[in-house]
Amino acid sequence: MKVKILGCYGGNIPGHGMTSLLVNDTVALDAGWVSSALSLKQQVKVKDILISHSHLDHTCTLPFLIDNNFSSPGFSLRIYAIPEVVASMRNHLFNNLTWPDFTSLPNDMTPVLKLIEITPEKPFTINGLTFRAVHVSHIVPTTGFIVEDKKAAVGFSSDTGPTQRFWDLVNATNNLKAVITETSFPNEMQELANVSGHLTPAALEHELKKLKKDVPVYLYGFKPKHLKRIRRQVRELGRKKLHLLIQGKTYKF
Ligand SMILES: [Zn+2]
Repeated sequence: MKVKILGCYGGNIPGHGMTSLLVNDTVALDAGWVSSALSLKQQVKVKDILISHSHLDHTCTLPFLIDNNFSSPGFSLRIYAIPEVVASMRNHLFNNLTWPDFTSLPNDMTPVLKLIEITPEKPFTINGLTFRAVHVSHIVPTTGFIVEDKKAAVGFSSDTGPTQRFWDLVNATNNLKAVITETSFPNEMQELANVSGHLTPAALEHELKKLKKDVPVYLYGFKPKHLKRIRRQVRELGRKKLHLLIQGKTYKF
């Protein structure tokens, strides 16, 4: 399984894109940086996107991805999310105010956008990859995703504070090769992390005790303003298999 990091930051400054992971060139987990990271030729291959939650740093390139490719012959995009997240995208994003409702354009019969509701923990398959959504603990309804092919599985928590079910499911996943989770704020901002449903390096250390498999853990979600401090505090945890994700890099699992 190939996972390219299109963006891995919890905010945007030049050179720092927001959360989006591209699996095997065709399926994206979150869309904080799809149209910003991929050429038009590459974008047209991305036909399926799983959205973890409604926050803009995970969804903001969806409108432009569709707009860019709207007129390509046969182009259509399928977006998968739990019902609460689909409802939010219908009501607040593709609502004919913020952006056109592409679920009925060019017409109701052959729309370029399909919003597909998924059931937490029920596996579904896209292009030979199996996905499961799992609820995590953020301030809006949010799921992480576990992605599996025949040889490897990777758990992506998406945005979360301290949580349990995600760790239970990755621990029970055969062939788990890596976990991707978040660290948004430095330790000095623990209170803000608590009220916004995010992790600091100190809170991450507690979370990692719940992981029972000896696999590498990759981090994303850093607020650009605090990147240096987060990097230092993660290093100070002294965990050998703990890494910050690198934007633009392709990881093979
Ligand atoms: Zn969020």
